[in-house]
Amino acid sequence: MNILRAEHLGMCFGVRDAIELAMQTAATQPLTVLGNLVHNETVLARLRAQGIQFQNEATAVTTPQVMITAHGASERKLAETRARGLTVLEATCPLVHLAHRSLKKLVGEGFHPVIIGKRDHVEVRGMTEDLHEFDVVLDEHDVANLRERPSFGVIAQTTQPIERVRQLAQRIRERWPNSEARFVDTVCQPTKQRQHAAVELAKNSDVVVVIGGNQSNNTRELVQTCGLFCSRVHHVQTVADLREEWFQPDDNVGITAGTSTPDSVINEVEHQLRELASRLITSAGSESEPNFVRDLMPTTFNQR
Ligand code: SF4
Repeated sequence: MNILRAEHLGMCFGVRDAIELAMQTAATQPLTVLGNLVHNETVLARLRAQGIQFQNEATAVTTPQVMITAHGASERKLAETRARGLTVLEATCPLVHLAHRSLKKLVGEGFHPVIIGKRDHVEVRGMTEDLHEFDVVLDEHDVANLRERPSFGVIAQTTQPIERVRQLAQRIRERWPNSEARFVDTVCQPTKQRQHAAVELAKNSDVVVVIGGNQSNNTRELVQTCGLFCSRVHHVQTVADLREEWFQPDDNVGITAGTSTPDSVINEVEHQLRELASRLITSAGSESEPNFVRDLMPTTFNQR
């Protein structure tokens, strides 16, 4: 059984920096995070153990300081939070800030804003709460329901699959050929790298294990993407979710993980798979040594 690790996987710099900022701050003063700092229960449990509190609404906050997550927030929400006398610490990812600025520019130039993403996702709410009029689209049905406008300014939630985003931007152009449609690509580079690496991984694997929280949007997107190229894809939150019956001794097993999955969780899953590979080889009576790591991604392995 070969274990393949995607060339790009796991926690992105935006989430990593936000967690570090929360930990550093909580070491000296009480801190409440507004919303989920990261869609991963393992990490959240570690942060709670450091005394960090989590609330969805500023009205429920009892510490003098609150943190905005890497997903960002609207100006309106920031102002409302400060108006309650709370000190706001912003851990908004710079690439989310970039998406906000791109949207503001489009609106300033008179384009009707269209965001490709999930309407209820915290990042999309942060982008749209300051706007009077906007549309959020996730599929072709949503595009078909758009009202005609002289011009559309199209951006994306940073964690949407770039192929879907390009396709929907193109659909908007086709649906309203007489309107101007300007598309600004705001899908972040770490998401693109993980999606691209997941495709390569799935093409070279008999079975793929995607590691990430159940609430993680980009983890679910990775599961979907891998499913297009590999028929056996399993989503696990932690090593406890792995099932031996998913694997055969001669399988190429790919591992990838969402942008909120910590290295420790990925390493535990990989370690367990290596042990399983060893057991399967032994029980199959093979005299050959298991080839755990294929040459496909030697750099990635050497870096760990
Ligand atoms: S997924 Fe992208 S935009 Fe979101 S925190 Fe990570 S790097 Fe930033």
